[in-house]
Amino acid sequence: MQNIAVIGAGTMGRGIAYSAAAAGLSVIVQDVSNTSLHNAEEDIRKQFERAVRKEWVSKEMADERRDTIQFTTEISEAAKDRDLVIEAVLEIMELKTSIFKQLDDLTPPHAILATNTSTMSPTEIAAQTSRPEKCLALHFFNPVPKMKLIEVICGLETSEDTINKAIGFGKSIGKECVKINEFPGFAVSRMNCLIGNEAMNMVMEGVGTPEDIDKAMKLGLNHPMGPLELADLVGLDTRLRNMHYLYETLGEKYRPCPILTKYVKAGRLGRKSGKGFYDYT
Ligand code: NAD
Repeated sequence: MQNIAVIGAGTMGRGIAYSAAAAGLSVIVQDVSNTSLHNAEEDIRKQFERAVRKEWVSKEMADERRDTIQFTTEISEAAKDRDLVIEAVLEIMELKTSIFKQLDDLTPPHAILATNTSTMSPTEIAAQTSRPEKCLALHFFNPVPKMKLIEVICGLETSEDTINKAIGFGKSIGKECVKINEFPGFAVSRMNCLIGNEAMNMVMEGVGTPEDIDKAMKLGLNHPMGPLELADLVGLDTRLRNMHYLYETLGEKYRPCPILTKYVKAGRLGRKSGKGFYDYT
């Protein structure tokens, strides 16, 4: 598991690419958007600079590892010769299945294909390939360089060998893995989306301001971030897609809060757009 490709250079893709490159793995990042690739390159450069400032790595080593990362808009270029491909595109099932179909044709037969979906079925995604036993979900957390956990989600056909190799990869980039059997929302998103949605309902009902609701959770329950700050960090568009999927699969209690839908329609997507439950401008 030395050669890694990351498909999608957004919030998660660039964090996964940085973490793998910082650990000394060979990384190529693919995206259909040149702007995303450019922003990812900038963000990754800043992450390496931070690592040098914190004295986690020497400047020479950081420069060397950063310079080995390749960026491309061509999926065929990204997929060839890879041992592991991690897909981190938008949370849209049709998009993920179409990418897995292409990856199945373009990667060598031994390659493991992973999706970073927050909620969706790796079994359904894997069913588009001729190698469902080599497919699974590797659910990273945001911001990837800081967050220790990877949920390793086993689909119906995922083999033990694939699971063990995926856990080995996680360890090799300094993460802790938990093995989760597939069910919508896995373990973390299933709980976290519910808490976030409830906090949004409370804002809508006038129970408290976002500041006070977040403060209550941080000081009352020792959460490191409030649920609304976290939703802004995740991206409200991404969170809304997660809620729609969980509502379809798990039912009424996951109905997206109307305020979330309204903010997304207005383009208030959280940190990435400059405004969400909080103002970042
Ligand atoms: P994002 O919107 O920041 O980035 C998505 C990227 O995918 C964009 O750069 C876009 O240009 C690219 N893309 C779109 N279509 C593509 C295609 N056909 N081929 C290649 N690239 C394409 O999204 P994100 O927040 O990074 O989320 C990515 C995935 O990770 C989603 O499945 C999401 O649910 C999951 N996830 C997100 C978080 C989070 O906190 N944001 C946490 C865990 C998991």
